[in-house]
Parts: sequence; structure tokens; C-alpha cells
Amino acid sequence: MFDAILIDKTDDAQTVTLSDVSPDQLPEGDVLVDVAYSTLNYKDALAITGASPVVRSFPMVPGIDFSGVVVESAHADYKPGDRVVLNGWGVGEKHWGGLAGQARVKGDWLVPLPDGISLRQAMAIGTAGYTAMLCVLALETQGITPDKGEIVVSGAAGGVGSVATALLAARGYEVAAVTGRPAEADYLRSLGAASIVDRAELSGKGRPLAKERWAGGIDVAGSTVLANMLASIKYRGAVAACGLAAGMDLPATVAPFILRGVTLVGVDSVMCPKAERVGAWKRLASDLDLAKLDAMVTEIPLSEVIDTAPKFLDGQIRGRIVVPVA
Ligand code: NDP
Repeated sequence: MFDAILIDKTDDAQTVTLSDVSPDQLPEGDVLVDVAYSTLNYKDALAITGASPVVRSFPMVPGIDFSGVVVESAHADYKPGDRVVLNGWGVGEKHWGGLAGQARVKGDWLVPLPDGISLRQAMAIGTAGYTAMLCVLALETQGITPDKGEIVVSGAAGGVGSVATALLAARGYEVAAVTGRPAEADYLRSLGAASIVDRAELSGKGRPLAKERWAGGIDVAGSTVLANMLASIKYRGAVAACGLAAGMDLPATVAPFILRGVTLVGVDSVMCPKAERVGAWKRLASDLDLAKLDAMVTEIPLSEVIDTAPKFLDGQIRGRIVVPVA
């Protein structure tokens, strides 16, 4: 038996408990993993609080990511003892996830953990950090090099934003970190932010086009934040959009696209093809300053997961939440 967070639904009410689960209850899959660490991401908070219909079947073990060691494998690429990481693929939504002592999954969903990243560091990065890497790669693909100008990052004190800030700074970009929490300014500067932007500047309804300020952007917020960001991107700049912390809407106009040639790139980590994942994890291993990563981490036991989840919805989480499971 092992501990697991279990979400269940009775009639209309959702229950979440720390439960004892046996390996026999795990879903089908060709690889069994002893989970070492999982994390809390924004999506896990939506699942655990029931604030959004993230969970597609019940009962469900949440946890959209985990790192661990293979115990049993019928998959050609994995053998017992291999260190692996998993992000997305509907795990923690449709298939039992990482907030449990063990997980049985499809081997095709796993990525071998690069040497140089520990099991704990893998989850300090987690899906938020891997998504931040995908966003940086998306800007690079658009030709947004450090010499083009400053990059704006929204939700900078949160999980995706913290890792994005550190990754960009490590590559020589100047980062304008947008935050609604001025008290986190020193934290953001310690991650490498060159300037701090008050979230209020991007929150109201803005003009279709504003002064050209930033060469590129990484947005976790959506809604007016993304609309105002787009309106302030320099000619031929690009924004990588991955989140909806401010809302799912996008009250923008086409002006930035048709008058400034701005590109809006959507970033999805869940169904991202394996080759890109492996590339992203390799780049995380080479680019991310692990001392900065340490500064982002708060560690909580499984027993505190249920009480911590609502804090994401209030925007109170700083950096990354790591959950040791073993
Ligand atoms: P966090 O809660 O750690 O960070 C979100 C941050 O957004 C907050 O810390 C806060 O930062 C900021 N924020 C909160 N409310 C608002 C608001 N109303 N307006 C503007 N900014 C706000 O979450 P994560 O970093 O884990 O995830 C961020 C977003 O990215 C989520 O929407 C998540 O669903 C999405 N995501 C998407 C993925 C994908 O595959 N597309 C993968 C991973 C995440 P501050 O206080 O500094 O302003």
C-alpha cells in the first residue's frame, strides 16, 4: 500500500482525501514507476479544488507530473532502475497521476531524466518549468534573440514565470518581470529580472496599439494582460502564450498582427511531441541555474497538498511547490 491523493465525486460534490492505495488499483500501463517527487502546478490546483473540470474520470489521483525510478517495464526503452520524468499526456486528468507513491503509465509518455538533473530538481522544474522552456524555445524559433530587446514575462513570481525569468536571463535576455506582488521584486531580481512591471499596467482595457516596448513576451495570464502585451510588442516581435491565470478571454484587436507583424505562438505542454520534450529537458539541463532553481522551491508533504491547492487560485504561490512522495 502507498499514500495517494484521491479525488472522487458523489452526485455533484467532489471529495479529496489522502488515502491508502494498493498497486492493484493502478490503471493499465506498460511501466510501473516508484514516484520520488511530484509537484503542484496551477492545473493540479484546479483539479484538487474542483474549480475547473480538469478531472475527466473518477476516482482520480491528481498530479500532472512526477519524477521517479522504473520498477517494472514491458516497454523496450525502459528497464528497472531508470530515472524518468513525466509531464502531461492527460496524467492526473484522465489517467492516475503523480501525487501517489507509485504510478503505472505508458512508457511512451516518459522522458529519460538527463544526467545532471536530480529527481528533486526535475520536479522543482516540473510542468511549469518545462512549459517555460517550451515558451523560450518558441521565441527562439521566431528569431527573438537577446539583441532584439527586452522580453516581458507575466505572472513572473509564479511557477512558469519564475523559471522563464531565470532561463531567459541565463541566455542573456533582459527580462521585464510583470508581477501583481511588488514584495516579490527582490526575488525576481535574484532570478535575473532586469526590471519589474506592475501587473496593473497590463490589466485594464488598453488601446489596440501602444508604445513599442518589448521584443517578445511570455504570457501565463491571458485576458487583458495578453491583449496589452501584444499591443506593446515591437515590430516583428513575438509572444508565447501558455496560460489563463487572468482569464480565458482575449480582448485584443488584430492591429499588432497586421500593422506590426507580431506573432502570437500558442504553447501546449500536454500533447507536445516527444522529440520536443526531450529537447526541452536537455536545454533545461544545460541552461537552468540550479542555485536559482533552489530559490524557487517550497517543499510540502503529501499531507499538505489539499490545503495548499486553493492558494494557486488566489495567486499566492511563489515559484514552485515540490512534493516528496517516496
Ligand atoms: P502559478 O499560480 O504558479 O503562477 C501564476 C501567476 O500568475 C501568479 O503567481 C501571479 O503571478 C499571476 N497571476 C495570478 N492572477 C493573475 C491575474 N488575474 N492577472 C495577471 N496575472 C495573474 O501557476 P503556474 O505558473 O503553474 O501556471 C501559470 C499558468 O500557465 C496557468 O494558467 C496554467 O494553467 C498555465 N500552464 C499552461 C501549460 C500549458 O501546457 N499550456 C502548462 C503549465 C501551466 P504574480 O503575482 O507574479 O503576478
